[in-house]
Amino acid sequence: MTDPRTAVAAVVDPELRVITIDELGILREVEREPDTGRVVVTITPTYTGCPAMDVIRADIRRALAAAGHPDAEVRTVYHPAWSTDWISDTGRAKLAAAGIAPPVPRGDDTVVPLTLAVRCPRCGSPETTQVSRFGSTACKALWRCRSCSEPFDHLKAL
Ligand SMILES: [Zn+2]
Repeated sequence: MTDPRTAVAAVVDPELRVITIDELGILREVEREPDTGRVVVTITPTYTGCPAMDVIRADIRRALAAAGHPDAEVRTVYHPAWSTDWISDTGRAKLAAAGIAPPVPRGDDTVVPLTLAVRCPRCGSPETTQVSRFGSTACKALWRCRSCSEPFDHLKAL
């Protein structure tokens, strides 16, 4: 029997594929009810309207069943809302390696300077432009690098 937290943390995000739900920061809690042994998983959705959440819920239940925990419940909490700041350093590195520009951390500033550059994940150039608000999925925007002229997906910062 695998520890439920370990089993759930290994579930891969169906949209981004290279990064687990733990690295993405949407996995909030994995608990076991002491009386029943039932595993309760709490997740926070990324983007509103992302169809991936149903897939993630099913994947979590499947991973838990395979790890010897067939009795599981997945709860969704919306507060506090997920932000791209929750993506772990490992997650950011994996996204960059996959050619997906990791979002710039928002920090505490409410005003984001317009000069904030999105760097090309291939050559690192800040000379980039947004081509389309929507990339390969609704959660990503399509950008193009003006230095190497490669298009790339940029995870929208929230
Ligand atoms: Zn480039």
